[in-house]
Amino acid sequence: VLASGACNIARLPDFAARVPPSVAMLTAQSYRNPGQVADGGVMVVGASSSGTQIAQELQRSGRQVTLSVGEHIRAPRIYRGRDLEWWMDAAGVLDERYDEVDDIRRARRVPSLQLAGTPDRTTLDLNALLDRGVRLVGRLAGITEDGKAQFAGSLRNMCALSDLKMARLLDLIDEWARDNGLDATVGPPERPPPTRVEDNPPLGLDLAGGAIRTIIWASGYRPDYSWLELPVLDRWGHVRHDGGVADQPGLYLMGMQFLRRRKSALIDGAGDDARDLSDHLAAYLRQGSIP
Ligand SMILES: Cc1cc2nc3c(=O)[nH]c(=O)nc-3n(C[C@H](O)[C@H](O)[C@H](O)COP(=O)(O)OP(=O)(O)OC[C@H]3O[C@@H](n4cnc5c(N)ncnc54)[C@H](O)[C@@H]3O)c2cc1C
Repeated sequence: VLASGACNIARLPDFAARVPPSVAMLTAQSYRNPGQVADGGVMVVGASSSGTQIAQELQRSGRQVTLSVGEHIRAPRIYRGRDLEWWMDAAGVLDERYDEVDDIRRARRVPSLQLAGTPDRTTLDLNALLDRGVRLVGRLAGITEDGKAQFAGSLRNMCALSDLKMARLLDLIDEWARDNGLDATVGPPERPPPTRVEDNPPLGLDLAGGAIRTIIWASGYRPDYSWLELPVLDRWGHVRHDGGVADQPGLYLMGMQFLRRRKSALIDGAGDDARDLSDHLAAYLRQGSIP
């Protein structure tokens, strides 16, 4: 059973190698606190759970943060008086199965929700970061040989799509609350205002110009299978599997994004997957077909 983790190595685009030497680089994995970061401008690449939290912390510490925003999933921390995780659990969203979704390959690549756990349980979305003075730019599409960052022109679309997906999730929760007689006991339905996007976000930034002293890559993780000498990896370096049953007889996988359920990569989600896979494994062992 491969349970070696989905997030072993920070994932950086190849063009990270073109960042000028005057700019320091950290990843969400190596970042610990603002003390590691030089005064001055910081660019955080990636606006999911790690990127938004790091952007907020650095902006609070007095740095001017530019946040490069690709695909992201917006969600309110508290909805109708309850935590969003409570709603998703109760309404069965987290139990959605891998064989029920239209495109499981895509579902496995969906980034983490912009949810942060804080004592005051406030929502950390792009509007909250804008209120703090963070500057938003589009997805980092490339860096030229002479160190110019190029941003995609899709920022508005990315934000609109994220707002739309959030509205769909809240619609589903409202429907579930109504069908289950909760409307009288929880707060009224509400919709957060749309994400604010400036009219013409910049499409480029000269990284050698001094405005950015540090880049923090919060662009995701990948598993490390450098030690695995089996022909089971796809071209993206992931183990080919069907709900955790790998291509090689007797090989199983745990702890991956949407392995068998939407909650598979959450600590609380592994138990049901483990039960399913151990049933499969026990049946395999009963066949007595171990090589
Ligand atoms: C930034 C971040 C925040 C998260 N926040 C939450 C959260 O708030 N709530 C939540 O439920 N989940 C969260 N998760 C997900 C959660 O951390 C994972 O689902 C969980 O850790 C998976 O457990 P695991 O045992 O499968 O993998 P891991 O915790 O990654 O453990 C894998 C283990 O395998 C070891 N290993 C790797 N290769 C080898 C090898 N060749 N030989 C021997 N050992 C090896 C590693 O050293 C490690 O000890 C978060 C993940 C990340 C990255």
